[in-house]
Amino acid sequence: MKIHPVPVRDDNYAYILQSSVDNKALFVDPYDVPTVKAAASKLGISDDDVVGLLTTHHHHDHSGGNEAFTSQYPGRPVFGGSEQIPALSQKVADGDSLNDVLKGISIKCLATPCHTQDHICYHVTGEGKSGVFTGDTLFVSGCGRFFEGTPEEMLRAMDKLSTLPEETKVWCGHEYTKANAEFSAAILPSNEDGIKRLVQDLKARKNGGVTTGQYTIADEKKHNPFMRCRDEVVKKAVQEKGGKTDDDVETMKWLRELKNGGQVKASI
Ligand SMILES: [Zn+2]
Repeated sequence: MKIHPVPVRDDNYAYILQSSVDNKALFVDPYDVPTVKAAASKLGISDDDVVGLLTTHHHHDHSGGNEAFTSQYPGRPVFGGSEQIPALSQKVADGDSLNDVLKGISIKCLATPCHTQDHICYHVTGEGKSGVFTGDTLFVSGCGRFFEGTPEEMLRAMDKLSTLPEETKVWCGHEYTKANAEFSAAILPSNEDGIKRLVQDLKARKNGGVTTGQYTIADEKKHNPFMRCRDEVVKKAVQEKGGKTDDDVETMKWLRELKNGGQVKASI
C-alpha cells in the first residue's frame, strides 16, 4: 500500500492510494484532476489503473473535481457520504468496508459528521501499514470548523479517530499545520514532549513543505488539543483564556471559538 499526497489549489491535498499488488489506484478528493492525473502518470499509474475515487465531504475544494474525474475515467465508482457530492455513484455509511476495490488494501468508512454532515474519513490498511484520510475533520494539531454540526459531534469524531491503531498515519485535507501549531503551543504546556517535537519539526522545515502523513494518531493524541478535550491540562488552559469547561463538550466548543478568534497564538 502506497499513499502519495498531491498538493492542489492553495493548500488542499488530493491523494493517490496505490496497491503494491497490481499498481491500481484510487484518487482521494482530486479537486484538480489534470494535476492528480499527471502525478499518477509520473508514478507509472496509467489511466486504466485508476479504479475509482473516494470523497471525504461535499465542499467544493474536495468534491469539485468529481465531474472532471468521471469524464476522464468513465465508469469508475465515485464513493462518498451523501447525494450532495457531485457524480456520486456509491453512497457509503459508517462502518462500511470497501475491500474489493484495491488488491491488498482494506478501506473502512468512518462517519465523522460535524464539519459537514456527510463527512467520511477513510481508514486504509495493507501490508501492515495503517493510514487515515481525514479530510476536514482532523488536521495535524487541529480540527475542522463546525459548519454543519455541534461541538458534541466533533468530540465524538475525535474520540472515534482516537480508537484507530496508534501508528496510523494522518493524511489530512489541508496544509494548516503551522497555524494549528501556533494555537496548540499557546494551549499546551511548552515542556510537553508532543508539542515540543511538533514545533521543533516545523522549525527544521522552516515552516514549509508537506506535513501530511508525517504524524500518527499517537502524535495527535499528544500535540492536538482538540483530541484532548477530556484532559485537565487542556481544560485548565481553556479556562485561563476565558473559556468555560464545565464538561468535555464545552471544552471542545471553547477550544474551537478560541481558535476561530485568532487571538490565542504562540510564536513558534
Ligand atoms: Zn470542508
